[in-house]
Order: sequence, then C-alpha cells, then structure tokens
Amino acid sequence: MEFKNSAMATLPRPGETLLLLGPMFCGKTQTLMYLAHEAGHGGKATWVIKHRLDDRHGADFIGTHDGHKMRADGMASLMTGTRGGSGCVRDPLAYLDYLFIDEAHFFADLREFVDTVHATYPRLGIIIAALEHDYLGNTWLGIDRCLRKGGPDMAVLRLQGVCERCAEPATMTKLRFTALYDGTGGTVLVGGADKYMPVCMACFKD
Ligand SMILES: [Zn+2]
Repeated sequence: MEFKNSAMATLPRPGETLLLLGPMFCGKTQTLMYLAHEAGHGGKATWVIKHRLDDRHGADFIGTHDGHKMRADGMASLMTGTRGGSGCVRDPLAYLDYLFIDEAHFFADLREFVDTVHATYPRLGIIIAALEHDYLGNTWLGIDRCLRKGGPDMAVLRLQGVCERCAEPATMTKLRFTALYDGTGGTVLVGGADKYMPVCMACFKD
C-alpha cells in the first residue's frame, strides 16, 4: 500500500517539472525519495533540497513517516540557496540531471525559480513535492502560481491519502484539535507531529 502512489510517478523528461501535490500523509516525500533513488541508480546527477523550516527529520535530511531518511540541503530561498557559496561548486545546478525539492509550499519564490532554471538549464528535470492546501483550505501561494501558469513542461500528479475519519480518499489536511480543559474555560492546543490529519473534502468541511 505504501508504494501505491510512488508507482504512479515517473521521472520527468529533461527540461520538465513534475509537481507532486496532496495533503499531509499521502506519500509525497516517499514518492520524491523513490524517484531520487531511481535517478541515482540510473547514474543521473541529483540534488535533494528542502525548506529550512522543515527540520522534522534533522537539519540535513528529509524523511518519510515510516522512518526512511535521505540527505537534503535545507535553504530559506531557492533563488539564493541554490547558488552555492565559497568553497562550494559555484553553480551546482549546471552539473545536475535532476533537482528534487521537498516541502516546496514553503518557498514563495517557487514559480520564479522553476522558470529561471528551465530557461538557464534546458535539460534539467525538476521534481517538486508540496502540500496543495493549508489547513484552512487555501492554496499555498507558490503552488497556486505554479498551477495558474501550468503549461506542457509542468506535469501535476495529485496523490491521495486515506481520510482518518471515514477512510475515503483524503485530499485535504485538517488541524487536529486536542482541546484540554485548563481550569479557566480556555483551551490548550496540543501540537507537534500529531497536529494534522488527512481528510476527505466532506470531513474537511464538517
Ligand atoms: Zn472523510
């Protein structure tokens, strides 16, 4: 079952982008890692990056909910973060076949970056994994800009999880409230890794 979504995904062709979208816990990162492995086994040069905000699996790793990890460089901005620095290869993108971007909804400059990369490195393939909606149901800005432009060089694959309430296919992410009576009539939000759950649209609106 875990690889159901992964098996649907294939590496994009040179110069194209694959956008993996879905709610939390639907296998986005797992699919990205699967494709990165496939590319690596095929002798392709790959680079996995993520937003610095996501440190759930350590500062230099991405990971799946069942414990698999992969090395990834965290950065706050794609346009500046992928330029390299002193002591590094000056332009790492020039040597790549595939660039993988996890938790990409955090990057406000995602659309600008993808356009720039494709214009500068016409043979580079990009694989992006991102939440489509936040827990309020709004489309993330960077993702919205990608979807609005679309085009033949950007394929979108929507992954579905399993609704935690009714077991229908989950497309949304809902905030999981654990309200505890604190003695004053207020509530305490118990957050962390168990803060969110995947739900179907009907349960999201419920
Ligand atoms: Zn449901």
